[in-house]
Amino acid sequence: MVADDAKVVLVTGSSRGLGKAIALDLGKAGQKVIINYVSDGSKEGADAAVEEIKSLGGDAIAIQADSSKPDSIKSMFEEAVEKFGTVDVLINNAGITRDTLVMRMKPQQWQDVIDINLSGVFYCSQAFFKVASKKRTGRIINISSVVGQIGNPGQANYAAAKGGVIGMTYSNAKEFAARGITVNAICPGYIESDMTAVLDEAYLEKVAEIIPLKRLGKPEEVAGMARFLALDPAADYITGHTFNVDGGIAIGC
Ligand code: NAP
Repeated sequence: MVADDAKVVLVTGSSRGLGKAIALDLGKAGQKVIINYVSDGSKEGADAAVEEIKSLGGDAIAIQADSSKPDSIKSMFEEAVEKFGTVDVLINNAGITRDTLVMRMKPQQWQDVIDINLSGVFYCSQAFFKVASKKRTGRIINISSVVGQIGNPGQANYAAAKGGVIGMTYSNAKEFAARGITVNAICPGYIESDMTAVLDEAYLEKVAEIIPLKRLGKPEEVAGMARFLALDPAADYITGHTFNVDGGIAIGC
């Protein structure tokens, strides 16, 4: 049985990777978590995350929804509110990569990344605002990337989307403050997940060399920051900021 004061936290893209680690961490902290996924093939992973959260002392449901489609997001929030009564915290984590050099990038590769990684954050934030603004309290945590701050060859689409998320974080922090809603961003560096598993080993070794802490990060390390921003009373007075969990890569070695 979860505590009466448990928060309802919706984590987009939480069937695997960073989103799943964040969801499990919050579940372990006794919260009510909405696991979101998009692909039919991820239903099993999402259902398994729900069961794990319940076994850890939290509560959870899984909802399939596409973050790049406003109607799909609207339905997800309706289902979440129907099940748990409200949504207290939104963690915009869903994201993809379609890496290639600018000269080779097809319009679809550009557009898919913008639609999911940038527009998706807007649609979810808008849907969340409708629920949270009435209560005059709420927290949004946007998972951006160090690439949105310092760029990366082969990732013009991703850097533009993630840089856009940082700008949206600042703007929404100012706009939503009057309704008691805080908005912050986390900028992970290179973190072990399916997203980085597709990169070749020699490239990852070179990357590790330029990271001051000389290794990739773990999803659980991003989850710790997300938990602080989502739940800790000390985060009540923090809004409009980005927090790097990147082994120091943004400052260089
Ligand atoms: P991942 O392992 O590839 O997982 C991506 C997640 O996003 C999956 O749950 C996926 O759902 C979901 N997703 C993709 N498209 C979606 C859509 N249209 N609607 C809803 N969900 C969707 O990626 P990750 O490494 O955990 O990355 C998570 C976030 O952290 C992303 O925003 C990424 O850009 C950011 N990030 C990652 C790193 C890193 O090094 N890994 C670094 C910086 C930032 P399905 O399972 O259904 O496909």
